[in-house]
Amino acid sequence: MSSLYLHIPFCSSKCPYCDFYSLVASQHQVDDYVDLLVRNIAYLHQHSSDPQAFRTIYFGGGTPSLLSSLQVERILTTISQTFELEDGCEITLEANPGTLAQTQLRDYRRAGINRLSIGIQSLDDRNLRMLGRIHSAEEARQAVSLARRAGFDNLSLDLIFALPGETLSILSADLDKLLELTPDHVSLYGLTFEEETDFSEQLKQGTLIACHEDLYAEQYRFLHERLCDAGYEHYEISNFSRPGLQCQHNQAYWKRKTCWAVGVGAHSFISRNWGERWAIPPDLKKYSERLTNNENPARLLETFDRLSAAKEWVYLALRTAAGIDQPAFKRLFEQNFLETFPDAIGKVRPYLATDQGRMAFTLDGWLLYDYLISHFL
Ligand code: SF4
Repeated sequence: MSSLYLHIPFCSSKCPYCDFYSLVASQHQVDDYVDLLVRNIAYLHQHSSDPQAFRTIYFGGGTPSLLSSLQVERILTTISQTFELEDGCEITLEANPGTLAQTQLRDYRRAGINRLSIGIQSLDDRNLRMLGRIHSAEEARQAVSLARRAGFDNLSLDLIFALPGETLSILSADLDKLLELTPDHVSLYGLTFEEETDFSEQLKQGTLIACHEDLYAEQYRFLHERLCDAGYEHYEISNFSRPGLQCQHNQAYWKRKTCWAVGVGAHSFISRNWGERWAIPPDLKKYSERLTNNENPARLLETFDRLSAAKEWVYLALRTAAGIDQPAFKRLFEQNFLETFPDAIGKVRPYLATDQGRMAFTLDGWLLYDYLISHFL
């Protein structure tokens, strides 16, 4: 059982806060890229030693909804002709509200996409303008309504918080509008100012002011309470879902299950031995050359040993509400969790909740996640 990630590196324009590898491309370049993805899938099939049965497939980006339904269908057909798909395979596509039409959504659904993750970010037009998004709040609402009409019953929406100048009451109104759309899953993003983005430049020049860390914490707690009161489970540091509708693809990632990846800039994790991480460099020209020469476009980034695998396992498990399953840790690493990380556990203990052999971060622990987890690494 494994997963497949497909990276679509194209966007209609570059958002000023985003540091992902993404390109503004012509339709012709997108067409050529689909040819490369199909080659990459064939390469993976020819060179993988184990027959793969995919449990989840994820089109991420960038903006995968720049692909036409015919292109998505071609890619999914290539996958299903070369690999097995498990029954009920979760197939997600990330979509930008400014790029969606009713027929396209209906045809995505027919092609096999059964989960849509829509990058709404906000339903406040002032926020959307500040974020440089190509869609308005009304277009975001329409995208959700079109998706429901096209038959999508597993819909995830993104919400950004901690925006410059955003008060709790602005965020509260934004969340109310989001909840009116009854998403099945919500992903939160606290705005960060990444190096070499327009936003980080504006921060340096003083034309944008970052949200104070106290307000960040207040907003995070507020979102947790409101979403839980509305019936969502806060199952991962940044993710909420209706019961039973957690994102299976991300669950595989957090559990260190094998996830193959195709597409320029994509990263794979292979769980053989203690684990390997591979990356396809973010260079479209080289990606094309390597595939045309029938060479592996991916490069080995990291090979894990038992200790580095255990550290990563803890790092990922503590992102989730399920936390550390101590008997599972012992089975996997043949060591007791408490004896492997005694100092780290001592330092983070006030932020740990324990329950029947499990240890998970409290909400305050999640707020300090980057600092607390550094004790384990
Ligand atoms: S649409 Fe998404 S991936 Fe593309 S530039 Fe904006 S934030 Fe980045």
